[in-house]
Amino acid sequence: MSQNTSRTAGRHFLQIPGPTPLPDRILRAMDTPIIDHRGPEFAKLAKRVLEGIKTIFKTTSPVIIYTATGTGAWEAALVNTLSAGDRVLMVETGQFATLWKNMAQKLGLKPEFIPTDWRIGADPAVIEARLREDRAHEIKAVCVLHNETATGCLSPIAEIRQAIDRAGHPALFLVDTISSLASTDYRHDEWGVDVTIGGAQKGLMLPPGMSFNALSDKALAASKKSNLPKSFWSWDDMLAMNKIGFFPYTPATQMLHGLAASIDMLHEEGLDNVFARHRRFAEATRRAIRAWGLEILCRDPRYYSPTITAVLLPDGHDADEVRNLALDHFNISYGTSFGPFSGKYFRIGHLGDTNDLTILGALAGTEMALTLAGVPIKKGGVQAAMGYVVSAHSEAQRAAAE
Ligand SMILES: *Cc1c(COP(=O)(O)O)cnc(C)c1O
Repeated sequence: MSQNTSRTAGRHFLQIPGPTPLPDRILRAMDTPIIDHRGPEFAKLAKRVLEGIKTIFKTTSPVIIYTATGTGAWEAALVNTLSAGDRVLMVETGQFATLWKNMAQKLGLKPEFIPTDWRIGADPAVIEARLREDRAHEIKAVCVLHNETATGCLSPIAEIRQAIDRAGHPALFLVDTISSLASTDYRHDEWGVDVTIGGAQKGLMLPPGMSFNALSDKALAASKKSNLPKSFWSWDDMLAMNKIGFFPYTPATQMLHGLAASIDMLHEEGLDNVFARHRRFAEATRRAIRAWGLEILCRDPRYYSPTITAVLLPDGHDADEVRNLALDHFNISYGTSFGPFSGKYFRIGHLGDTNDLTILGALAGTEMALTLAGVPIKKGGVQAAMGYVVSAHSEAQRAAAE
């Protein structure tokens, strides 16, 4: 419908798992004159965000802010802590884990890839068993995605930490939280993570182009011995300049203004409320999918993602056709599919600056698009989602009254 007109009314439903919609407040915070990045006003801003971002990672250690997408922060985590030929243990949760593994290979590391069927997260018991076998401690790092954005599977980071400890293994623990940070509970210090990788354009509700490394003392110590080449990504120069409120090169000033607003907004809502909101959207989405009689790609509820849910279509139905119809008729975008299930599923992102009615609107669009595409579904998915949202709200109401 919209494809033959030059104007589309209303807002686009950006239901991809990142970039997520920009709140007006963040847009306004970024719409401000450029300041001197070596001047006192900048130092104030830098100190504010460098301190503030620690509260989002839940750490008291330094967090490095890069002018790069998440992929850059992946590279930074590897090149700062590891050396040529180091063995790293990774888990094939899906497309993003595969990209990180390929990067490790290109950087001269030796990744060992624990396979999965792309329908579950990283299993702590499997990691523990592999580490126990590694008596010579050849594995230098365990690298896991908290949330595999390609499939909608969340991995239990605290339990993986315990598994590493039970195996008595000294490997570093590197965790990608790009699509979970600021929308799913995450505790860098408490969970004993050595480097946490974050990105701007998902839970933090910012444009793409900024990413993070949260560090531990162990990671900093490892960085002194690491011999992989690094210059732009080097933690040393960053940490030295950050101490006095500056960056070793021109920082993305407008992104930092946006980040300051994002941190304020997350704390005004309350991180726990933010996490509960995302869990509610995820459950509402799963209820809709089940009511339609369709399958959720993540096959084990222990690994359900609070930020993205992938919908598997029956054989013979093309997920890309559903996405195209949904975009043409209802102005809604979904995430695409990858790997062994390419063309067989689409992803509903339910993270960032979004609310109950946006999610219900998105689910209504999905139910209609599935029908238009001739996918055999039962009616009532949106009804089921509404029923759940109402029950979640009445429970909150009761809890508040007590
Ligand atoms: C989006 C994403 C990435 C890639 O980040 P870019 O910002 O696209 O470079 C990596 N890992 C996960 C889990 C992601 O969701």
